[in-house]
Amino acid sequence: MGFKAVRGVEDILPPKSEKFEKVAETFKEKVKVYGFKEVILPIFEESALFLRSVGETTDIVQKEMYVFEDRGGRKIALRPEGTASAVRAYIQHGVYAKEPFTKWFYIGPMFRYERPQAGRNRQFFQAGCEVFGLPSPGADAEIILLASEILEALGIDYTLEINSIGCGKCRPAYKEALVSYLSHRKRELCRDCQNRLDRNPLRVLDCKNDVCKGIVGEAPLITDFLCRECRAHFEELKFLLAELGVSFVHNPFIVRGLDYYTKTVFEFKSDSLGAQSTVLAGGRYDNLIKELGGADVPALGFAMGVDRVMLLLPEREKERDGVFVVTGGEKAYLEGLKIVKTLRDKGFYAEIDHRQGSFKSQFKLANRLGARYVLIIGEEELDGGYFSLKCLETGKQERIESIAELIARL
Ligand code: ATP
Ligand code: MG
Repeated sequence: MGFKAVRGVEDILPPKSEKFEKVAETFKEKVKVYGFKEVILPIFEESALFLRSVGETTDIVQKEMYVFEDRGGRKIALRPEGTASAVRAYIQHGVYAKEPFTKWFYIGPMFRYERPQAGRNRQFFQAGCEVFGLPSPGADAEIILLASEILEALGIDYTLEINSIGCGKCRPAYKEALVSYLSHRKRELCRDCQNRLDRNPLRVLDCKNDVCKGIVGEAPLITDFLCRECRAHFEELKFLLAELGVSFVHNPFIVRGLDYYTKTVFEFKSDSLGAQSTVLAGGRYDNLIKELGGADVPALGFAMGVDRVMLLLPEREKERDGVFVVTGGEKAYLEGLKIVKTLRDKGFYAEIDHRQGSFKSQFKLANRLGARYVLIIGEEELDGGYFSLKCLETGKQERIESIAELIARL
């Protein structure tokens, strides 16, 4: 025997899974008050969808995608991210014609063949939001505010970096200037970046290599090339963020690893994550819906790395919770079973030890499970027609006359 989970794929067992739930619940609470509705999308798609959206020359498509042929000979990919499927579904179901604008959220596993390390897995989870149909910078400000509120509600310290990477009108001139600058220093670049220079020069700005970073530090800035429209959009976004009290820094080197972005891009980073510092990232992608065959609808969104956020969650002292029913003898056990059912019906966590060992062993289990109260049904209690309730937090024990009284107490 000796089966193990595949490399880069993590089992999330309790109590860690409680952190997962906490992140998902907090995310859902926040996005719902912002008007987002859940979409549940497939975890595999035609691989061509990702070539067309994420981009053929990106690392994700070139090196990281899980692709296979199914039994019908279709070329399939496990989704490396959520936006492509959301856009595909938005187009396929003609949502554009039904709603003035659309706000969707999703949570689910994504798959990328990367080198596993802390905060980087081959199966990981993203919680993301997409907004379709809103071109104005107010929409950019709103989802950035939403993202910041989610991280704050989770108690996570972050810095927010934003940038504008322009549009189809202004980016070509920038690309040209960048390529001309980088070509002069091509031999100093890392091997990956030498390739990127030919295929996807903007990616060089994103390189983690120190030498490349130094070269990039002196490169022309996209900010100086933005067209009037992109510049105005970016200025308005910065103004709105300031008005809304969201602190940010403008980092002109953020380009993101996916091809579909236009105008706004942003990253929320945390210092405590080492190299894998980005916990949430996103931006605007005004051309993607059209490029995938839909109407000319602007869009924007973000995805939060649930696994990375979990690494950042403060360890919290677990609070005691629920009622453990300790019983002595067959009759008391039967009575206990019914009480446990009543408590559970009322929505309280209740537990009983079906092994019916000694009082001492039952108390030990109650402690171990972190119960807040122990309800004792012994011979004395049965004869007297009452219960003893012990609070494991305070150690205080008292007499309770009825289950109704117990429920009122809880
Ligand atoms: P990175 O630069 O860290 O590789 P990315 O640019 O590939 O990130 P996105 O595709 O924008 O990331 O995904 C959004 C978020 O999803 C990331 O900021 C990160 O928190 C999370 N994420 C991405 N890849 C992984 C992974 N392999 N394992 C865990 N989380 C991930
Ligand atoms: Mg990546």
